Amino acid sequence: MKPRKVRCYPGFASMLGRCNIEVFYTVPEMYLNKLFTCIECGEIVVIDFENPNVAGKTADQIAGDAVCPKCGKPLQKTIRPYPENFRTDDGQIGHFEPDSIIPPDSESLVKEFIELS
Ligand SMILES: [Zn+2]
Repeated sequence: MKPRKVRCYPGFASMLGRCNIEVFYTVPEMYLNKLFTCIECGEIVVIDFENPNVAGKTADQIAGDAVCPKCGKPLQKTIRPYPENFRTDDGQIGHFEPDSIIPPDSESLVKEFIELS
């Protein structure tokens, strides 16, 4: 698993008692990069579905026997689509649906995530 720079957009999620929780999301129109999270610790990983090694597989198939780079749990059990599911630093689980309107490029940013492949 290697770090990979990913172009994504910031989003702001709300949950009971908290708001403005920053999350990140990719849009399928740009690349076939999709973010996932380890629901046990909140680590974010990226899968590049253009990679021929992963084509046609689901995230838990791609996780295989890999463990989370942060908490060491088997990713096959803990991987969830992100930011549809996210874990906050205080251990709550939130949900965020990106707007279907894609923001302008100027709002995008580049973040580095571990690539699962
Ligand atoms: Zn983890």
